[in-house]
Order: sequence, then C-alpha cells, then structure tokens
Amino acid sequence: MDFLKSRIKHINQQYLRPVHVYESIYDIDFGSLYDDGVRSIFVDVDNTLISYSDDDVSFQCINLFNSIKLYGFDSIILMSNHSSTERVNRVAKQLDVPGVAFACKPFTFTVQRVMNDYQMSDTQTAIIGDQLLTDILVGNLLNLTSIFVDPIDKENVSFLKKLQYRFQQFLMTN
Ligand SMILES: [Mg+2]
Repeated sequence: MDFLKSRIKHINQQYLRPVHVYESIYDIDFGSLYDDGVRSIFVDVDNTLISYSDDDVSFQCINLFNSIKLYGFDSIILMSNHSSTERVNRVAKQLDVPGVAFACKPFTFTVQRVMNDYQMSDTQTAIIGDQLLTDILVGNLLNLTSIFVDPIDKENVSFLKKLQYRFQQFLMTN
C-alpha cells in the first residue's frame, strides 16, 4: 500500500502538476505568458470555456479571445476531447480560431500532429484546461507550459466526471 502511495505521489509530481494554476481562464496573465516566450496556445473547450450544458460562448469569452489575439500569439487552437465536431466547430467559429475535436488527450498523437502542422515548438506552447488527467498530463508529457483552471461547473456533470473532479482535487492537495 505504501509502495502504491509513493508511486502515485511520484507520477503526480512528475506528470500531473500544472506549471500554473488559475481560478478561471479569465485570471490568466496572457501578457506575461507572451513575455515568457509562449507563442502558441491550446485551449480546452468543455468546462474551460463553456460548461457542458452550454452551446455558445459568452461575450466575456469572445472579448477575452479578442484581447489574447492582440498580444500577437502565432496560434490559438481549441483542443477538445469532445466527440462532437459540430460542437467544437461552433465554439471555434464563435471565437474565430481553429478547433480540433476528439483530441484523445492525454494521448499525445493529435496534439503532436497539430503542433507539426502549425510548426509549434514545445518550449513556446502552452495548454490550458480543467482536467489534470487529460489537459495537464498531455501538456506535461510534451513539455508544454501546462495551465490548470478550475472547472466552470462541477455539479451538472456525469457521475464519472464528478469522481474525476474529486480525484484531481485530491491530487492537487497531495
Ligand atoms: Mg475540459
């Protein structure tokens, strides 16, 4: 049991620790990310930009993306595990950025393919998301700047997702 605990702790510290933690995407200092050399950003969709029950982004979100674009980032790309291309494309269109559905995070192949397509380098790329086991893990596996934000809505989600949120809460505090 102690062995298992120490293994979990090791994996947690090596792969599941975000580089930055914020309460929401609106709290991220994109200017200082740019100053730190970040030029490309992956952004998760569900519970990072909109809750699972929403189909449309808020004006606040559109304003945020407009102001992020002003910093001059090379690419801002939505990277979602959602299987609905329609949902992700709709959000991407509203924010006027490219969107990728069914990204299979934490597997690295889709993120890597997009990084190749857009000629993004790991040291200049950040990934923002609300899940340690997908967004943060894939970011850390690829040596990106991983940025965790609190899920928008932890209540109106599936039972499994609730369990996952409780587990990541445990991981964050251990
Ligand atoms: Mg999410």
